[in-house]
Amino acid sequence: MTGDTISQIATPHGIGGIGIIRMSGADALPIAQHIFHPAKGGALGEVAPYTARFGQVRAADGAILDEVILLYMRAPHSYTGEDVVELQCHGGTVVLREVLQRTWEAGAQPAEPGEFTKRAFLNGRLDLARAEGVMELIAAKSTRAARAARERMSGALSSEITLLRARLLGAIARIEAGIDFPEDDIPAPEIAALQEDITAARAGVHRLLAGAEAGRILREGVKTVIVGRPNVGKSSLLNALLGTERAIVTDVPGTTRDVIEEEISIDGIPLRLLDTAGLRAAEDAVERLGVERTEQHLADAELVLAVFDSSTHLTAEDQELLARLRTMRADIIILCNKEDCASVLRVADFDGINAPVLMISAHAGTGLDALRETIAARVQQMEGGLDDGALPNKERETRALEHAAKHLDEAATALAQGLGTDFVSIDLRSAYEILGEILGETVDTDLIDRIFSEFCIGK
Ligand code: GDP
Repeated sequence: MTGDTISQIATPHGIGGIGIIRMSGADALPIAQHIFHPAKGGALGEVAPYTARFGQVRAADGAILDEVILLYMRAPHSYTGEDVVELQCHGGTVVLREVLQRTWEAGAQPAEPGEFTKRAFLNGRLDLARAEGVMELIAAKSTRAARAARERMSGALSSEITLLRARLLGAIARIEAGIDFPEDDIPAPEIAALQEDITAARAGVHRLLAGAEAGRILREGVKTVIVGRPNVGKSSLLNALLGTERAIVTDVPGTTRDVIEEEISIDGIPLRLLDTAGLRAAEDAVERLGVERTEQHLADAELVLAVFDSSTHLTAEDQELLARLRTMRADIIILCNKEDCASVLRVADFDGINAPVLMISAHAGTGLDALRETIAARVQQMEGGLDDGALPNKERETRALEHAAKHLDEAATALAQGLGTDFVSIDLRSAYEILGEILGETVDTDLIDRIFSEFCIGK
């Protein structure tokens, strides 16, 4: 497959000043020589790599399709590790399609989603963890997520894994060098050194696992559910946090019938904010469905913003919500909204719930900064903290780390019980191989295909 030359539009679909078509493969330059005509006349001929050329892309009948700038990056010093030609065209959907079609006519194949990056991986330009960092940077929804993606892209996770594997390989070599020792007679210093290697590797794997939760939060966002009885100001709060008029705000109870989901970023941390229909016993079927959904979302919420109307005393429905909150494991923040009206609610009304109580006004915007700070602090405390560094975040990676940790535990036990170094060696090898999966060294082609197919087109 890597012998073929591929091409695709690399810029987003839509209208823009410039749109880029990228070609990669051994025939990228010959194809460009065929369809590109330099402005100063003549044929394209040889092109010095890493220089720009101005000219036209012409159709088979000689008609001008666009005026473009051509960039040539020669193998192996390109993103994919192959010859790459980029055509900077005018950024219109039709013109880009036509130029792309022209590259196909001239012999290029349409690139699959993620195929450029997959080639970079297959050609050893990037390991899997770094390739995924590229996609994460593109998909990042907050500054922290972007920072974590950049770290991954530049190899922070990869180098930690590589170090761990080197340590394991050292331990395996130590055992193999000592294979001549009679089984019960391994010198004590060897055992001590082995123990040290295993302990260090275990600590490293556990350190990475501790960052996995933070990594997931940065990728997916903290699932934050806004609950409260109708009319307390849930939609207004969502809008105030969003700074737009996304949810419909009315004073008819129960108008937010379905769950509205928006994404916001607080202190660089992405939040998936869900405005729910409330939990009251609903009369019609649509509303009942909304209530059911609220229940489902509450069940797996990580953060709950429970909203109350501070201009009235707690109602029976509020009390029901409070009872429900007491049973929840999620982090909770209690918000007494409408503090701009004469407030009758007191912090003492929320005794018995382990949650900060904040006075806010979604309308006047008061208390919202304190809310943002409280949210940021709570999220920081969530498992593992959010320190930037090597943050594994894919289920695939977490599973591999857990699996490796298990083998290292077994290796440590085997060693402690004096079971013989063969047993230890088997587990160390397994851990070594499994950690290699994270870098893509020991995974099969189906998995590689599946991972890259989730990348975006043209990348
Ligand atoms: P929801 O049903 O909980 O989503 O509540 P809405 O956001 O639709 O608001 C219900 C009513 O309360 C609307 O008339 C809002 O204008 C009003 N409201 C929301 N927040 C405030 C606030 O901070 N102060 C005051 N005075 N009214 C508010």
